[in-house]
Amino acid sequence: MLDTAQSLIGQAGTALGLPQETVNILLSPNAIHEFTITLGNRTFSAYRVQHNNKRGPYKGGIRFHEKVDLDEAQALATLMTFKTAALGLPLGGGKGGVAVNPRTLSKAELEEVSRKYVQGLVEHIGPDKDVPAPDVNTNATIIDWMVDEYQRLTGSDTVASFTGKSLENGGSLGRTAATGRGGVVALAHLLGHDTADSHITYAIQGFGNVGSYFATVAATDHPDWKLVAVSDSSATIYNPDGFDAQALSDFKEGGGRFTDYADAEVMERNAVLGLDVTVLVPAALGDVITESTMPRVKARYIVEMANGPVSDRAITYLSEKGVRVLPGIIANAGGVVVSYLEWKQNIDGEQWSEDRVNNILHKHMTDAVGAMLEVADAHKEYSLPLAAFIVATKRLVA
Ligand code: NAD
Repeated sequence: MLDTAQSLIGQAGTALGLPQETVNILLSPNAIHEFTITLGNRTFSAYRVQHNNKRGPYKGGIRFHEKVDLDEAQALATLMTFKTAALGLPLGGGKGGVAVNPRTLSKAELEEVSRKYVQGLVEHIGPDKDVPAPDVNTNATIIDWMVDEYQRLTGSDTVASFTGKSLENGGSLGRTAATGRGGVVALAHLLGHDTADSHITYAIQGFGNVGSYFATVAATDHPDWKLVAVSDSSATIYNPDGFDAQALSDFKEGGGRFTDYADAEVMERNAVLGLDVTVLVPAALGDVITESTMPRVKARYIVEMANGPVSDRAITYLSEKGVRVLPGIIANAGGVVVSYLEWKQNIDGEQWSEDRVNNILHKHMTDAVGAMLEVADAHKEYSLPLAAFIVATKRLVA
């Protein structure tokens, strides 16, 4: 994932004629904070990478996972810098986490780890410096503890220090569905640019938060889009007549596995990648479309809802074959857009309606796709990811 991002940043620098020195500055993080959190006789490594704050406070999630390490935090922080720039947000890029499996912790221990994470970073974060958010295995409860700890340590009563809070504590309406919704808006804008035919078939890999909201928002806003396949870690299921997105979502909410789904053809879990559909939506893991899997892709569009699902080589290969890869720095940025709107509501002491949040999200997503297409239309040799990185890079060096 880091290789792909770094390669696209390098290519964007070349396309813009930037000196290598400037590209190197864009690649290296401004600050790395590394410390340990002690819980009884156990210690956990904790990180916060502050990649770039040229456009505003660092922004990015906090991950609690035993595989969290500095390389991963650095890769994701880099992507955040380019994501916020591609979306035109007045924010920078950061990422952090604790190398801990939260399932091994009691609730009290989880709260202690969350508060100690803030204690280790308090002088480096805050509404004007770095505004973290939830990520893998972190949620509104954890963020609420972190806000409380930040207030206790600083004496400030602001809730703008973190986003992804509970609604009662200053969270924003529309946040839960924002990433999926943003992806739907971005794809619709791209399709509208490319073709007058709105009838498409599509398949989604992964049906968690992002995949399920993508499907349910699409079902409401684009009834012409037919969802013919979905996968989870157990199987791909296929139905050429189309699935009811809400029924699938209810099935997963109830703890179901797709191997047990009735009224569908059950296939092996990675079959989703090679189906003959108009659009493929990877929404589970990074690095799933690589040199080994790219020849199987039959879709004409790929929407990167996961972070880094298509490798650099696969982007080049597929783009040369005419496949449009809608890059993750735009496609999956709906969450960070609404995080920005939460931060803004907190600073202005306001609480906006869900419609207002969704309308502003819509505008940010369509503007970002529009800016990317402007570059791609002028340079047919550029892939869409390269065009998006060029837009972001231009803004970062302006
Ligand atoms: P999630 O944990 O809610 O869902 C992921 C789903 O993928 C799970 O249902 C899991 O069963 C499934 N899965 C795991 N392995 C699989 C496999 N091999 N094949 C098919 N499915 C598999 O996570 P999420 O929040 O939906 O995030 C999904 C991806 O989107 C991640 O890459 C994440 O980094 C990225 N992302 C999420 C957000 C957000 O706001 N949640 C924002 C930007 C990017």
